[in-house]
Amino acid sequence: MQSIESTAAIAANPQPQTLPALFIGHGSPLHAVDDTEFSRAWRELGTVLPKPAAILCISAHWETRGTRITAMAQPKTIHDFYGFPPALFQVNYPAHGDPVLALRIAEALSEFGVQPDPEWGLDHGSWAILRHLYPSADVPVLQLSLDRDKTPAQHYRLGQALRWLRRDGVLILGSGNVVHNLRAIGPQHSAHEWAIQFAERVKRALLAGDRAALVDYRNLDPAADLAIPSAEHYLPLIYILAQQGSDENIEFFNDKTEFGAISMLSFMIGNR
Ligand code: ZN
Repeated sequence: MQSIESTAAIAANPQPQTLPALFIGHGSPLHAVDDTEFSRAWRELGTVLPKPAAILCISAHWETRGTRITAMAQPKTIHDFYGFPPALFQVNYPAHGDPVLALRIAEALSEFGVQPDPEWGLDHGSWAILRHLYPSADVPVLQLSLDRDKTPAQHYRLGQALRWLRRDGVLILGSGNVVHNLRAIGPQHSAHEWAIQFAERVKRALLAGDRAALVDYRNLDPAADLAIPSAEHYLPLIYILAQQGSDENIEFFNDKTEFGAISMLSFMIGNR
């Protein structure tokens, strides 16, 4: 796998590079419009990331039967939440799609039954982050859905089958949360013990390269049932885990908990 030694090298050498892959804890939709420590970190990251040819986002907020990939030229901004201030419902993230790339991906992943989708768009799992990472919305964005019928191991294999995209200049973004239990949240909560315990366990396993344990996350730690009562916010992590080559680093950021039960732990695979 190609390695990039420095941003200076990138500037001097316009050869295709392997894009990093990101798992980002998105937390509250309000980070999309508020200046918070998390949204600031996304904005700062956007200033050092290379500009990709396209972005493929695997969001916790698009679950389907079978795997789908957005294939429209102009994906709509989906406001998939309730009870938030009007400013959040007014957000429009006008990035284009890339129907040609969507069809290429669907074809390349035909053994996984990936189907082009003309209906979805960009849910807040992608645009809440992307409007900070790429505020100009000048990079085409595609979303890949989470198939409810796949096992975690099948999600991992599908993630591995996406690796070639990184060499083609595509930034793969997993958007979810390592710990996500909405029944245990509260505005003033300090982090629950089990939330800290599970996020730490995930971090240790990521550092140790213990992929099998991270894929079999239900048995990763006794806190798993409380930390991840449903799979959808954890599964995007498995897609990004699957991107890591043997020579690639992992870099953590936003390693904090909000509302007691949502871990914002995020990481980047590869080089900026
Ligand atoms: Zn979410």
